[in-house]
Amino acid sequence: AVTASEPTPTQVRLRPEIAALPPYRQGRPAPADGFKLSSNENPWPPLEAVRRAVADAAGEVNRYPDATALSLRERLADRYGVGVDEVLVGAGSVSLLAQFILAACAPGDEVVYSWRSFEAYPGLVTVAGATSVQVPNRADHGHDLDAMAEAVTEHTRVIIVCSPNNPTGVPVTAEGFERFMARVPEDRLVLLDEAYAEFVRDEASVVGGSLIGRYPNLVLLRTFSKAYGLAGVRVGYAIGPVPILDAARTTAIPLGVTAVATAGALAALEPANEAELLQRVDALAARRDALRAALVDQGWAVPAAQGNFVWLPTGERTAEVADRLFEAGVVARAFPGDGIRVSVGEEASVDVLLRVLKGLV
Ligand code: PMP
Repeated sequence: AVTASEPTPTQVRLRPEIAALPPYRQGRPAPADGFKLSSNENPWPPLEAVRRAVADAAGEVNRYPDATALSLRERLADRYGVGVDEVLVGAGSVSLLAQFILAACAPGDEVVYSWRSFEAYPGLVTVAGATSVQVPNRADHGHDLDAMAEAVTEHTRVIIVCSPNNPTGVPVTAEGFERFMARVPEDRLVLLDEAYAEFVRDEASVVGGSLIGRYPNLVLLRTFSKAYGLAGVRVGYAIGPVPILDAARTTAIPLGVTAVATAGALAALEPANEAELLQRVDALAARRDALRAALVDQGWAVPAAQGNFVWLPTGERTAEVADRLFEAGVVARAFPGDGIRVSVGEEASVDVLLRVLKGLV
């Protein structure tokens, strides 16, 4: 069992705002024969070819990795039709988020993002010494881009747009995003966090690829953790203007991207492997749409879902519903007083979810 321990007091002078931060939560482990649907992970184990590439790279771990992950940047640059310096690889996109926030923000500066959104944002902003400006989501659980543009002040340095939004699943439309970009001053950095882009099937949604090169202040963030099933090795990437990426290179902890991670990502991008991985993504997107439709039929007000997860607005009943799911072997991510995020995972988990949730609506 995971028990929360009281922090041990210390006389050492630490930053009080850091000591006050809640630790990053990972959710409880799934029971045997249960389903871990709390971290939006890919339910399939790695392809044999990817596993072999990772194992081969492990044979050279007495050496440091290539600090710039050049081979992976070359492959990605090719894919997106950009220069190799317009791609930055990081130890997961959460690491890249931290690098960009640190590159742009000094104490007193502001970071605007929607709320509720990805739980890591507030902590990363605080670590940078900056201030979070959280703009409430609309009633449909999507970003209120107009209100976000209005929240920009002279102190704003970064605006984070998360599409599809974690944990609510709602994407931003391409049209809405372009209108938003037209309102944001060009000297403020916009991070478009697209951790779940590959799962998007709604054609009106923004998918950053089409925006590359169009804005001097826009950086796209992508990850191999979700669609490509590599959450455990930690690798993600950013695409954007060179001077902004150079600044974020400077704020990285050196050598954070391992050779094992790079090898896994390169193997996942091999055409035959990628085709198989993207078939899995197709299956997950279809499973998500079927799950959401069935939940809506049951009476659940599940918002539009374009990631590999669905949002149950359980409000005050959140703990009760999460407990009932746990008793049935499903670990989901509960946000007390607000809702529950359930990852779209193994096929067999869908029946369990529908059976338990039917009685709770
Ligand atoms: N952005 C969003 C919106 C996420 O949900 C996550 C993972 N939960 C990340 C970034 C970070 O992913 P990673 O660091 O594994 O690339």
